[in-house]
This record gives sequence, C-alpha cells and structure tokens, in this order.
Amino acid sequence: MRFREPLLGGSAAMPGASLQRACRLLVAVCALHLGVTLVYYLVGRDLSRLPQLVGVPTPLQGSSNGAAAIGQPSGELQPRGAAPPPPSRTSSKPRLGGASNPDADSRPGPGPGLGSNLTSAPVTPATALSLPACPEESPLLVGPMLIEFNKAVDLKLVEEQNPKVKVGGRYTPKDCVSPHKVAIIIPFRNRQEHLKYWLYYLHPVLQRQQLDYGIYVINQAGESMFNRAKLLNVGFKEALKDYGYNCFVFSDVDLIPMNDHNTYRCFSQPRHISVAMDKFGFSLPYVQYFGGVSALSKQQFLTINGFPNNYWGWGGEDDDIFNRLAFKGMSVSRPSAVIGKCRMIRHSRDKKNEPNPQRFDRIAHTKETMLSDGLNTLTYLVLDVQRYPLYTKITVDIGTPS
Ligand code: BGC
Repeated sequence: MRFREPLLGGSAAMPGASLQRACRLLVAVCALHLGVTLVYYLVGRDLSRLPQLVGVPTPLQGSSNGAAAIGQPSGELQPRGAAPPPPSRTSSKPRLGGASNPDADSRPGPGPGLGSNLTSAPVTPATALSLPACPEESPLLVGPMLIEFNKAVDLKLVEEQNPKVKVGGRYTPKDCVSPHKVAIIIPFRNRQEHLKYWLYYLHPVLQRQQLDYGIYVINQAGESMFNRAKLLNVGFKEALKDYGYNCFVFSDVDLIPMNDHNTYRCFSQPRHISVAMDKFGFSLPYVQYFGGVSALSKQQFLTINGFPNNYWGWGGEDDDIFNRLAFKGMSVSRPSAVIGKCRMIRHSRDKKNEPNPQRFDRIAHTKETMLSDGLNTLTYLVLDVQRYPLYTKITVDIGTPS
C-alpha cells in the first residue's frame, strides 16, 4: 500500500478515476512483461550469456585491473570470443617469429578453464599481449657487488637459489617483455671450477637486468690448440638454432662484473663490457682493447662476417674483431670505468693455449682476411649437446690449425 499511496497522492490532480485505473493497468502490464522476460532467460536460455547481456564482466573479460584485461581493449575480446573454435589447440599453423622459444608455452596465461563458459574458442596466451615492455633501466639493480673466489661453489645450491632459471640456463622475465634476447656465449675447455663461479655470480645479475637470456658453454673437444674466436662463431650459430636471439654476449669464463649496472646486452654500437679489469688496474690496457666480455647485436655480428676462425692459441683474435668493427665503420660503446669494473679469476696459463706467434701478422691483414675468414667459412662438428639446469653445454670438434 505504501507503494500505491504516493502514486495515488500524486494522482489527486488527475482528471478522472478511469484515467487512474488505466495508468495502474499499464504499470501492471509492464511489470508482468519484465517478469516473463526474466524467467524466459533464466530458464529457457544459455545462462552464461546473462552476464554479457546485463553488462557484468566475465572472468575472461576481467575487471579493469585484471591481468587478462591489461592492454586489451574490451573490443578485442568480443570478436575473439565469438569466433568459431579451430579444430584443435595444437594447430599446425606455421608459428610466428620467436615461437621456437622453449619457454613460450610455460609462460603464465589464462588457465584452461578460463573463458570456457563464454564460448569454446581457444584462449590465446594473453600474457604475451598484455605484459608491459621492461623499463629501459631495470629497477632491480643493486649497484656494486662483492666478488670473491675463496669459497667453492656448489651448483646444486646455485640451482636452488635461481629457481626461475629453466633447463639449459634459460630465463625470461615474468613481469615484463624484454627487448633484449641475449645468448651468452662462453668459450670453454677444462675450466669447470671457473664456470661454477661464473654461474653463481652471473645468473642473479642477468635476472636483475631483466634480460631474456640463455647460457651457452661451447666446449672445444680434443687436445689441439685452443681457438677462442672460432668457438664464439660456433656459439652464435648454435644458439640461433634454439631461439630468436637478437644479441650475443661473448664472455670469457673467468670474468665477473663487479656492478650490475654493467648490462649484458646490446647497444646501437658494439659494446665492450669488461672495460676495467682488476688485472689491468681497473682500466683499459689500450684504447682498442676489445677482449674479455663484449656484446654484438645479430646484425653487427653479421656485418663483420663474424669472428676470425684462424687464430689458434692465445692472443690477437680480439684485436682482429676490433679491426673488423672499425673497417665496417662502427665504433665501440663502453660503460664508465666505475660501472665497468670486473674481476678475473687468477689461474696459470692453460696448456695448448700458448701465445700465438702469428697474431701480429694476422692483425695487420684483417681488412683483406675478414671477407674470406669468418661466419661464411665456418666449419665444425657438434659432438654433444647437454642441457644442464644452469647452462647448455655444446661440445664441438673445430679441427686443428691448417
Ligand atoms: C693481445 C690480446 C689481449 C691483450 C690483453 C694483446 O697483446 O693481442 O689478445 O687481449 O693483449 O692481454
């Protein structure tokens, strides 16, 4: 009655009783119509459509701050939900660039149940679309780090301390998309103790740097003279078989950065990273020095035809690489001597890596030799590939000096 009284009260000014009755009848008919419509949808129709019809967000649509909705205008979701489902989730369609990422399927995405009450259309990995780009400088960096080599490293512990590193030494940031797809290539033979220190120190640094990275240890088989640059060429080729890396960091196994602001990534010019080594009094030994740790983008590396293959034994190959860059009109980018400080693990000279007496002559002819000695003439045989929890080890036969 409380409902009717104000209505009637308001109708006191109305001209006649029959008009009042007609109005009441109209209201009653409308109420009946609404009720019947509601019952119709609740009982006779697909209940899952109701939230859409009344504008309530479904789990797939998410709320304004839901992960699935970030960067996803709602207009994009509607047609996708309405599309007919393809034959199966494991489509035989050719995969787009970067699809060979072994981690791609394990990235967090909507669970299988999400969206199933909307339509049966597949849910494509929304995270790849919705994650923001990683910032230019990572907010996770800590600056100077204490680097010591006085305690033995237990790799099992290192694994436990780096749970986000996947088999083969792969890591992809989970909160942002890194533009830096970095393959770290380490030329190697008989330096397992050094490698343990490297893994112990570098994995946390590289993760803080928010790099999308993989670690490749290129192990020279046999007892012939060591050939650092050829192993680096092999690393470049082999890493690209795994993933669409766009940047290559070439690192000696015994060099550890002392400041995580020294980012292991590529720049618009080739980057020299180990610019202030303790063994050189924390400065460059000479201005053209490009040894230790350096980074080249895929394009920069291809432009110089990779590295020379014919420097057997110690020395000269890094000078040849510097020459190649210079002859192709590139300059070298470097961090400051403060940021670029790094420590080298002290060791005696390896057998079969004695100084190469031919190096001076070879360096003098880089301009001619770089066209016919490099990536375009690289030959080798992969003997073994091991995917360890913290790194991928590729053992290769690279031949002997010709
Ligand atoms: C060698 C380089 C080496 C540098 C620093 C030069 O004489 O040619 O290969 O990196 O010395 O030790």
